Amino acid sequence: MDKQQEFVLRTLEERDIRFVRLWFADVLGYLKSVAVAPAELEQAFDEGIGFDGSAIEGFARVYESDMIAKPDPGTFQVLPWRAEAPGTARMFCDILMPDGSPSYADPRYVLKRILAKTSDLGFTFYTHPEIEFFLLKHKPDDGSRPVPADSSGYFDHTPQNVGMDFRRQAITMLESMGISVEFSHHEGAPGQQEIDLRYADALSTADNIMTFRLVMKQVALEQGVHATFMPKPFSEFPGSGMHTHLSLFEGDRNAFYESGAEFQLSKVGRSFIAGLLRHASEVSAVTNQWVNSYKRIWGGAQGRTAGAGGEAPSYICWGHNNRSALVRVPLYKPGKTGSTRVEVRSIDSGANPYLAYAVLLAAGLKGIEEEYELPAGADDDVWALSDAERRSMGIEPLPQNLGEAISLMERSELVAETLGEHVFDFFLRNKKQEWEEYRSEVTAYELRKNLPVL
Ligand code: GLU
Ligand code: MG
Ligand code: MG
Repeated sequence: MDKQQEFVLRTLEERDIRFVRLWFADVLGYLKSVAVAPAELEQAFDEGIGFDGSAIEGFARVYESDMIAKPDPGTFQVLPWRAEAPGTARMFCDILMPDGSPSYADPRYVLKRILAKTSDLGFTFYTHPEIEFFLLKHKPDDGSRPVPADSSGYFDHTPQNVGMDFRRQAITMLESMGISVEFSHHEGAPGQQEIDLRYADALSTADNIMTFRLVMKQVALEQGVHATFMPKPFSEFPGSGMHTHLSLFEGDRNAFYESGAEFQLSKVGRSFIAGLLRHASEVSAVTNQWVNSYKRIWGGAQGRTAGAGGEAPSYICWGHNNRSALVRVPLYKPGKTGSTRVEVRSIDSGANPYLAYAVLLAAGLKGIEEEYELPAGADDDVWALSDAERRSMGIEPLPQNLGEAISLMERSELVAETLGEHVFDFFLRNKKQEWEEYRSEVTAYELRKNLPVL
């Protein structure tokens, strides 16, 4: 037994923890959990715990349904909302096949695979997510209009603001689970919050995002409100993005930094951005995986009031401090050579973080490996340009809807290779079904528009 495993077993005893939840994500990014008694844990570390994978979205074909969850002791944390003895703890798991090989359906393994390749190339990949979400007065009944929990706006600090109490309690809980928070504030729309996690390696970040979503929902429940990560719950307000700052390090050295270069951006950094841009459309079905995701991206002018935080990118370009760009290179802080990074602004809060970070990383690495040239940056507000102007600048739109994103992904070697055959096929099948369902639905819009006059 290794040191981490010993630590877990000792802590269980010392803190009288009687339930250990083993967590993993399905292919769509929903959190799954199986609880084991502490007595089972030693065996779980050795052999894992068997479960029926056929019941989990995307995990197995029925004839190969036995799967094994093997806890990663490095992810052990006590759940703070179950703090009173006897307590409950959790660990993330790797999913294995009955023969002990990694499961081809495990999103965590998809990310681990590309991270291993990254490390073979000599890099470590760091991520810093800005997670936006809404607090609603209550969980809406099926299809009814949601009601935001407050009426504040961007950076508002008002007494009796539900969000303020919420953020304080939520952040305390995150910190007690070892998840460091860097910033938090009220976002542009009523009820909308943003909490930014401190940068960490991508696997920890993805685990942290899974935990984050559950913690937000838990704290919301305790405060009598409802938290949602749906990308665009309101037509008239901005949606919830999960902008993520990305960087590659070679040992202690930030590989994106080059002293004296434009924006202090090295050749590696430039090619990485070029990769993100060139492959942006084909990875879009993964970074923006829902029908609703495209309502955020194409949300119309009302979602975009300058300063109101509505700036979801619709076009594929990069810029320095240009909030209409898909990739933004934030202001360089003099003397902080480690802080050079790129912010990807397309990804939304409803993404599966393991898969989304895997495809973004794959796109950036491809740019480095193939030495893609970075196109000219866009300084203008690209929404304000005409189609013809954008075309003459070589600026393409992102997919208009999930259907288009699926067709582009289907033809993508990069995504197929990164997700692996099983996840790639399952994901496409599942998303095609979602798109078909949506296409055949008569919407409230049509009824409003047509019924009174046709
Ligand atoms: N809510 C915006 C989005 O959907 C982002 C606002 C911001 O710049 O933080 O991406
Ligand atoms: Mg924001
Ligand atoms: Mg941002």
